[in-house]
Amino acid sequence: QMPTGYVGRFAPSPSGPLHDGSLVAAMASYLDAKAHGGQWLLRIEDIDTPRVVPGADQVIMGQLQALGMHWDGEPLWQSQRLPAYQAAFETLRAQGRVFGCGCTRQQVGKSPYRGTCRNGIPLGGQVRAWRFRVEPGVVPFNDRWLGPQQQNVAHDVGDVIIRRADGLWAYQFVVVVDDAFQGVTDIVRGADLLGSTARQILLARALGVTPPRVMHVPLVLDAHGLKLSKQNHAEPFDCDNPLRTLNRAWVRLGFDSLANTTSTADFWAKATQHWRARFQHLIY
Ligand code: GLU
Repeated sequence: QMPTGYVGRFAPSPSGPLHDGSLVAAMASYLDAKAHGGQWLLRIEDIDTPRVVPGADQVIMGQLQALGMHWDGEPLWQSQRLPAYQAAFETLRAQGRVFGCGCTRQQVGKSPYRGTCRNGIPLGGQVRAWRFRVEPGVVPFNDRWLGPQQQNVAHDVGDVIIRRADGLWAYQFVVVVDDAFQGVTDIVRGADLLGSTARQILLARALGVTPPRVMHVPLVLDAHGLKLSKQNHAEPFDCDNPLRTLNRAWVRLGFDSLANTTSTADFWAKATQHWRARFQHLIY
């Protein structure tokens, strides 16, 4: 197949090993990249240092290799990217798109941010976090799995935190800076991040880059209907029987079981064909 301009990525947070839930997202992004004859990059999202488990990045890479999922080029570690985040921040600041916010978590609560510090921190307050100024209006986008979507970020979220009170760069910000840096054209990830997409589109536009296309795949739920996640103590997936592990994730994506696969390479070849057939109308 001819090489295409497609660049996909898998961006795990190294807070523990991959489990059956993260595998479904990894599989979908891998298959979509392969079906497009594109590249599949690996990015280790180790920016949220309190949640990073030392060595988890190596464990994750070993798990991917055990399943025959080979990434292109060198992985990117977010912990190596601090100068780039600072530079992107300065770009936004020079445009007047960021402001210092003195609100505490308790003051903002769970509700959208109402712009308290937009025109300056009220008397006596100090800068805690830095926020990106969101203009009013609806942000429409198309999701390749879910169809047309939209969100009114100004109303539902408010001005987005890009640097947290603890000094760490926020996930929403670094993901945009890195997707642009890595030339990512297509994001394929779990549906838990659907609600982050509109803000990421706004941040990309403010930084002068084209937002990637997106596809959000269904989450794997546990017996209690909760998202399978490290916080909910999901077990690492089984590397001793890679074909069974792969097939289970495949069925969770809504496909018929691939019974007679002989190797991981064989699994990926067959699964890629099925993926291409199912999303034919969506292959560029
Ligand atoms: N690091 C994020 C996670 O593990 C995923 C980021 C993304 O795909 O945009 O949930």
